[in-house]
Amino acid sequence: MQILDGAAVSAHIKEQIRLETVQLKEQTGKAPHLAAVLVGEDPASQVYVGSKVKSCEELGFGSTLVRLDAGISQEALLAEVEKLNANPEINGILVQLPLPKHISADAVINAIHPDKDVDGFHPISQGRMVLGQKTFLPATPYGIMLMLEHYKIDTTGMNCVVVGRSNIVGTPMSILLSRNSNPGNATVTLTHSKTKDLAGFCREADLIIAAIGIPKFIKADMVKDGAIIIDVGINRIEDATRKSGTRLVGDVDFDAVAEKCSYITPVPKGVGPMTICGLMKNTLEAFKLVNK
Ligand code: NDP
Repeated sequence: MQILDGAAVSAHIKEQIRLETVQLKEQTGKAPHLAAVLVGEDPASQVYVGSKVKSCEELGFGSTLVRLDAGISQEALLAEVEKLNANPEINGILVQLPLPKHISADAVINAIHPDKDVDGFHPISQGRMVLGQKTFLPATPYGIMLMLEHYKIDTTGMNCVVVGRSNIVGTPMSILLSRNSNPGNATVTLTHSKTKDLAGFCREADLIIAAIGIPKFIKADMVKDGAIIIDVGINRIEDATRKSGTRLVGDVDFDAVAEKCSYITPVPKGVGPMTICGLMKNTLEAFKLVNK
């Protein structure tokens, strides 16, 4: 079994982005600039946004963190997005999800200019992705594709089971792995909470992408020998042995599954850092769109 080391791969790709950013700065006098919008005080969201801003600093990107009160109205949030759309210094915009219940995430995502949609959630980005056109890919599936590519895992002809069908992870992942490309050319089954005999589908899989949000959901008896396991889940569980009283686990029962599989991503330091890589690559591309 080999660990797919998201921290190491991400560091490698980020170094390439950093070097390209140095060159672009010399050529244009400017650097890519990401704006992150954080609504409210959700602790997990604060951590995610913090690590995105930190990555910008490491890469020589500019960053702007727009912190807004949880009680902000939808209109006022849309106006903030509009300001960022109109600001020529800002290349990429992300609005950290989830948003408070009184705000429509769809309305906010739809308001981001597609040329600045570095999270790849806008309907235009997703439509282009489905059609195989150049676009911003959603950051997590993009990061997973980069990881498969880095480890030269040839997915051609594989039976792939994606567990979870969210718009930001499972569904785009199923589309990317089905495309006529490498990674890609897999035969993909997209499963969800209504799937009958999920374990049976998983046992047939050469590659499982778990994006469910339930700690240790994928058990060893759901995995065939030699399968490749990508664990997207980030779940906080209680752990009395830790000072904090909690720790992060994925959607895969790591210790038991690791004994059977050929490759597996850990949690943390698996898909998480690759997601940031996808976001940073998209921000670089957004910069290049307007600074050729
Ligand atoms: P969502 O809650 O949007 O979607 C979860 C999916 O899992 C749904 O499609 C749901 O099915 C399915 N599901 C739930 N229960 C079951 C079940 N018992 N059997 C089969 N399928 C089930 O989650 P996200 O896609 O946003 O996130 C998934 C996980 O990935 C979370 O832990 C999240 O924190 C993590 N995440 C990690 C990222 C990273 O960078 N590493 C980035 C984004 C997310 P249905 O549609 O039928 O309800």
